[in-house]
Amino acid sequence: MRGANLVEVFSSIQGEGTHVGTTTLFVRFGACDLRCRWCDSPQTWEPASQCRIEIGRCSGEFETRPNPVSVDDVIAAAESLDLAAHEFASLTGGEPLLQPEAVGEIARAMRARGPRILLETHGLASEALESVLADIDVVSMDWKLSSDVRRASDPRRGSVEPFHTEHEKFLTIARQAPELIVKLVITRASLDDEIDEAVSRLEASAPEATLILQPVTPFGPVQESPSAERLLALCARLSSRLPKVRVIPQTHKIYGAP
Ligand code: SF4
Repeated sequence: MRGANLVEVFSSIQGEGTHVGTTTLFVRFGACDLRCRWCDSPQTWEPASQCRIEIGRCSGEFETRPNPVSVDDVIAAAESLDLAAHEFASLTGGEPLLQPEAVGEIARAMRARGPRILLETHGLASEALESVLADIDVVSMDWKLSSDVRRASDPRRGSVEPFHTEHEKFLTIARQAPELIVKLVITRASLDDEIDEAVSRLEASAPEATLILQPVTPFGPVQESPSAERLLALCARLSSRLPKVRVIPQTHKIYGAP
């Protein structure tokens, strides 16, 4: 294969979801076909001309390489960051499933060296997921709410078609993974109706999934988080419908980790 378009490779601590706090080596893929209003990685929206690779675990120092980066070079870079000592390797983005061949090869090679593989995805590319699923330990998918998310190809103004049906299709494949996490990013613009619709579909398709309610971290045009009262009420209401509902904010932002 011709390699991967990557933004960065670095060692840190998982800041989100049920595996928060675990040692994690991150491989961030370039390009994304969505535009989330709260996206904190807009530099990943287009394919990157260069990839930055951390030199030495937790050094915070990077070297740059031109894209695409060969899988052998990704693995060599990861090994120089002590790959085997990490609990997880997170394949994130951008949207990794826009490059399924690279995701499969990197996941296989990293998993053989020890870490579990966590795939962070927007939860829409079903066929691509199917092609890599055997190499993934944890699928962490977003359930996008159209109050805050549009496709890159959509006009900037006007209403957006909901993503529910595509997420439902994705779920039928994702639920075959050893572990499935579904994340709803909650903002002040999130509507109860769309949250309820998402949860109804999750309840019907994959009730065993862990549902994360992640209060948005203000970034760019999103200036405020939802109130604690709203989160507590949502958690109470949704917990009566699904067995594993958790409220977990992004934690790496608190102490300034990447
Ligand atoms: S799917 Fe992820 S990378 Fe793409 S716009 Fe949304 S938050 Fe950003």
